[in-house]
Amino acid sequence: MSVLPIRTFPDPVLRTPAAAVGPGRTDLHRLVQDMFETMDDVGGVGLAAPQVGVGLRIFTFDVEGQRGHVIDPVLRTDGELVTEPGEGCLSVPGLRYHPERYAEAVVSGVDAAGEPVEYRGEGLTARCFQHEVDHLDGMLYIDRLTGQDRKDSRRRLRDAGYGRVTGTTQADRAKSVSSSFGGLR
Ligand code: ZN
Repeated sequence: MSVLPIRTFPDPVLRTPAAAVGPGRTDLHRLVQDMFETMDDVGGVGLAAPQVGVGLRIFTFDVEGQRGHVIDPVLRTDGELVTEPGEGCLSVPGLRYHPERYAEAVVSGVDAAGEPVEYRGEGLTARCFQHEVDHLDGMLYIDRLTGQDRKDSRRRLRDAGYGRVTGTTQADRAKSVSSSFGGLR
């Protein structure tokens, strides 16, 4: 298994809707294992395939005692729109905001063996599922911010020189992202 490099804003892969995997794929075990290892390495609660440069609809998660992966997820949401708990993103390190998310979510799909899977959760788990499915649609959580948070996030991305920073080692990046979404564990 390998820890994969995590793509960060403004890498275009993060803005590209991922392709459906579809039935019959038997070659995804390795990718899923590498995604788990990468997510664990940085202490993340979720990781979507585009974050490691793979444009397929797959995500892994380890949040509030549930751990798994979903291929071609179908997301259903319910409940109120809430702003707590907040969120960050391994691909946008250093920022943390509180976009509105539905309080409950159910995600269904298949696993790497092609078996049907379904997971449900509230609060942080529901937020994680919505965040990861957004990644598969080419959307980042900062896109869901409104008002002052939206302005503030854009200024901070600009001031932090996102997109100009190159040569960051994986070890440095791992340190910088550990306080991100993973910091909720
Ligand atoms: Zn993310």
